[in-house]
Amino acid sequence: MKTAKIRLYVEHRLGEGQTIPLTREQAHYLFGVMRLAVGDAVLLFDGQHGEWRAEVVEAGKRGGVLLVAEQTAPQRDPPDLWLMFAPIKKARTDFIVEKAAEMGAARIIPVQTDFTNSERIRQDRLQAHAVEAAEQCGGTYVPEVCDLHRLDRMLADWPAERRLMFCDEGLAGHAAALAGDLPRGTPWAILIGPEGGFSDGERAKLAAMPQAHAVSLGPRILRADTAAVAGMTLWQQVLGDWA
Ligand code: SAM
Repeated sequence: MKTAKIRLYVEHRLGEGQTIPLTREQAHYLFGVMRLAVGDAVLLFDGQHGEWRAEVVEAGKRGGVLLVAEQTAPQRDPPDLWLMFAPIKKARTDFIVEKAAEMGAARIIPVQTDFTNSERIRQDRLQAHAVEAAEQCGGTYVPEVCDLHRLDRMLADWPAERRLMFCDEGLAGHAAALAGDLPRGTPWAILIGPEGGFSDGERAKLAAMPQAHAVSLGPRILRADTAAVAGMTLWQQVLGDWA
């Protein structure tokens, strides 16, 4: 079989000998854009069963079929980390979702805060960005992108065992690092605020939560999209799967 360069996420359970019917969009991408033909190889993942090499056995304009041959990589799940962020402008929100998927978020949750500018998101579009990010970064897991949640409701019902890294722009320039002696392998979330930052009410709620750890992302105030990447980098380095 030829060498596979293209990776594709499919919503079918993968296993040796399985045939995978392609959607119209997938067929257009593989045969129209990437010019694959019968006999060519593709790498597939379904989000749960690792990566598999498959061969094109039928190629058409509106569909096609792949035959799964062998597993090429085991399933690798990210740490149990949620990225919560207040949506901003469209392109910057897209960026946050893409980077969160690349950097190993298990779930991505847009949250409406007191000062959130954008009150609507296109969950399906953001989910498609997460799929594309997983396809291109070699991941075998696609994080779920949730619909917009209200932050106040989430904090009121916060799970006892999930710690929360609260990225607090009020701590910029202060010594407030993420402690390296915290237990690893436990559920976490990172919270990034909107352009307007957090309200006094949100700060008070967060300060009262035993699960919340307020951290600084350095001496400068970062834009929310930069802060999301910086926050994930910091968490992954100290407590995540980079070590
Ligand atoms: N308007 C706010 C201000 O001037 O203080 C800045 C909000 S900032 C653009 C957006 C979010 O990024 C903040 O709510 C926070 O979560 C995060 N952030 C940015 N810089 C930070 C820093 N130095 N330390 C911690 N969090 C930061």
